Amino acid sequence: MKSEKPWILERSIRKLQEELHAAGFRPYTARQVFQWIYQKNIQQPAAWSNIGKEDREKLSALYECGCRPVLSVQRDDQGTCKFLIGLADGLKIETVLIREKGHHTFCLSTQVGCALACRFCATGTMGLRRNLSAGEIVSQVLTLKKELGEDGAKVNLVFMGMGEPLLNYANLKPALQRITAAEGLNISPRHVTVSTVGILDILAQLEIDFPQVKVAFSLNAPENELRAKLMPVSQREDLGTLLAYFKAKKRRQRLTCEYVLLRGVNDSPIQARALARLLHGIPAKVNLIPYNENPSLPFQCPGEEAVEAFRAELVRRGLTVVTRWSKGQSISSACGQLVVRM
Ligand code: SAH
Repeated sequence: MKSEKPWILERSIRKLQEELHAAGFRPYTARQVFQWIYQKNIQQPAAWSNIGKEDREKLSALYECGCRPVLSVQRDDQGTCKFLIGLADGLKIETVLIREKGHHTFCLSTQVGCALACRFCATGTMGLRRNLSAGEIVSQVLTLKKELGEDGAKVNLVFMGMGEPLLNYANLKPALQRITAAEGLNISPRHVTVSTVGILDILAQLEIDFPQVKVAFSLNAPENELRAKLMPVSQREDLGTLLAYFKAKKRRQRLTCEYVLLRGVNDSPIQARALARLLHGIPAKVNLIPYNENPSLPFQCPGEEAVEAFRAELVRRGLTVVTRWSKGQSISSACGQLVVRM
């Protein structure tokens, strides 16, 4: 059911201050509310014990305060959990918690479905239903933090779930502000990665707004023609232009390039050498992601030997390479496997 009340998770601290001021609250109430919601991760006004009972009731009457509900959770035996989350209009998204030694990764969605239709990606088969709001993005983080409980391990946030983050920048930006602000979730922007196919003008804006946020670039093919076949967006965002941008840009961290390895398509040693040439002069780290197969898509994962041969070609040419044998495959929560049938 759609609530008539506005959702408090859509509010920036400034907006909430304005609204609460207009409604006759004390000047510091908005900060207290933010502390409960984001720092203590408690969204029920009844539990906000340092706010008077009358004010709590008034807040409940004014705003809807909870996180979006978890409809189901799938867990694998290594601690990866995939959450199906229900949105107010009945649509659903997936968000993933990956537990690792010493730190945990939150894999977050930014859209319901995706418009880009990358040929190998399950989310792409859904088409774009709609953008997620800022509240729907931060709600995922709060939900995953609840799952971790008091576990003090560091968290990394990666925008690698459903959707293309830069095609929803209007909502990603306020979400990132809420995630990184001291009065919000207070997560260092250095622990946040935005993964993108590369939408150049918006990428440049992201890097101005959040210079410390890490960028992961989904490269996936060593030349534009093949890339455009696999990723239709490449017909608009030319690989050469994108790489020229990355070459010219001085950034604090090395650029992470993601490369999905598809058997017989982009996994040959010749293509590895072409990739190394392409990245020449760009301080880059390559994440090789052996393809996570989807029953409805015609691609296959290369064998281990082919993956290793590809990696060796890159390493020989001085690149830093990490092979990411995906976690969560048994529960279809690996890269490119998030899909919701509505
Ligand atoms: N739209 C953004 C973020 C979502 S996809 C982007 O493209 O970067 C996150 C990563 O998963 C991308 O690098 C994408 O190329 C990769 N990916 C998609 N489908 C995959 C699959 N089935 N197996 C392995 N990686 C996949």
